[in-house]
Amino acid sequence: MIGAGQAGLSAAGQLLRKRLRPNEDFVILDANDGPGGAWRHRWDALTFDAAHGIHDLPGMPLDPPDPAEPASRVVARYYGSYERELGLPIVRPVRVESVEHHTAPTENDGKAGHFTVTGADGRTWRARTVINATGTWDSPYIPYYPGIAEFNGRQLHTRGYSSAADFAGQRVLVVGGGTSALQFLLQLDQAGARTVWTTRRAPDWADRFFDSSWGVDVEASVSARTTMGLPPLSVVAATGLPVTEQYLAGLTSGVLISRGPLRRITPTGAVLDGPGPDGGAVPSQGHVADALLAPGGAAAGGLDRVPALTGRACTAVSTEDPLTTWETEVDTILWATGFRASMDHLSPLHVRERGGGVMMLPDGVSVVKRPGLFLVGYGASASTIGATRAGRRAAVQAAAASHPPQSGHL
Ligand code: FAD
Repeated sequence: MIGAGQAGLSAAGQLLRKRLRPNEDFVILDANDGPGGAWRHRWDALTFDAAHGIHDLPGMPLDPPDPAEPASRVVARYYGSYERELGLPIVRPVRVESVEHHTAPTENDGKAGHFTVTGADGRTWRARTVINATGTWDSPYIPYYPGIAEFNGRQLHTRGYSSAADFAGQRVLVVGGGTSALQFLLQLDQAGARTVWTTRRAPDWADRFFDSSWGVDVEASVSARTTMGLPPLSVVAATGLPVTEQYLAGLTSGVLISRGPLRRITPTGAVLDGPGPDGGAVPSQGHVADALLAPGGAAAGGLDRVPALTGRACTAVSTEDPLTTWETEVDTILWATGFRASMDHLSPLHVRERGGGVMMLPDGVSVVKRPGLFLVGYGASASTIGATRAGRRAAVQAAAASHPPQSGHL
């Protein structure tokens, strides 16, 4: 197994349940210095109650922590207890650099061949199956825009964000339409920064919350793509943004109003397609009107609570409308533009399609082009609930492929 985040730990728990023996039958290689997966690195202001829900690992519910404690600490502690309690064979820090497959049958491997897994320190492991659970945190994505290299101010990605206080008094352009962008905008505003939000498309607000049915819906909509080998959609692209009370307040104040798509970057700011900072917003299409108007719904009180969405905004105007172009000066560009699957170490296996996706079987964990390789936390399972379920499925299959269990499983 490679990776000890939610997906890897869930798979490991299931391998134990299937009576695979720690160290003898499987090990987990993890690049981090300690437990927590990607959560270990998230900023302190992302408190437990601000996270969108952390699903329990199998068989060990998370004791409700202080909601104001940073999620990074809560999750690192929780994963650490899980690792200790189950006696998981985690080898860290080991960054896997390559995974190769050898088809030449050997006495122990039967017809399926074996994988050779090589760490950055040169150590190698040999395995009949590989469960890859390496997440996305190590692969931040910043899209290209003309002028990006000429910007004189500071640019940083979600991965480099630590505290809103760092931006007090600054003008900040926040790029991206996901929940990280929403949280940054609210925090920066509170910390005294002046923000401008830019999104490629009008934000798609949805009248729902991040509960377990949300995780299941993400799985359904994203797995339709991965079975075709297409790159996975982001979670928000699959389900829309939830209209929570907190976000509604941001909509009302105008902080969470997208000011249009980014056209290009200048040395001192950016050019956006849109009506300008005050002239209304790129309107929300999606379900926002329904969400806000629903009697007794998440945002009961009606559209009049959201001045920027009144009038033109509610007529579902799209970004194809002839919008004006305007320029804004900013000190910092914060790229909340997401992540890609961290899979460079799998390159020798040639499992990627031309568009960058990996074609998966409908089970969501088996790779069509390389039997014996399982991806968990990939695409449809990139949420804590999805990762937990996928980890279990992959482990059941890996365990089934382990007869006789003479060579190990990673
Ligand atoms: P990770 O937690 O990223 O674990 C991967 C592990 O693999 C890491 O320990 C890493 O060090 C290791 N690794 C990576 N590459 C290698 C390598 N080459 N060799 C060895 N080890 C390697 N989901 C939710 O359900 N609720 C939320 O509230 C939520 N909030 C989020 C907030 C942000 C800002 C982001 C970016 C994502 C959020 N998610 C949330 C999605 C979240 O990433 C997943 O839910 C889940 O934690 C991912 O688990 P994972 O095991 O797939 O990956």
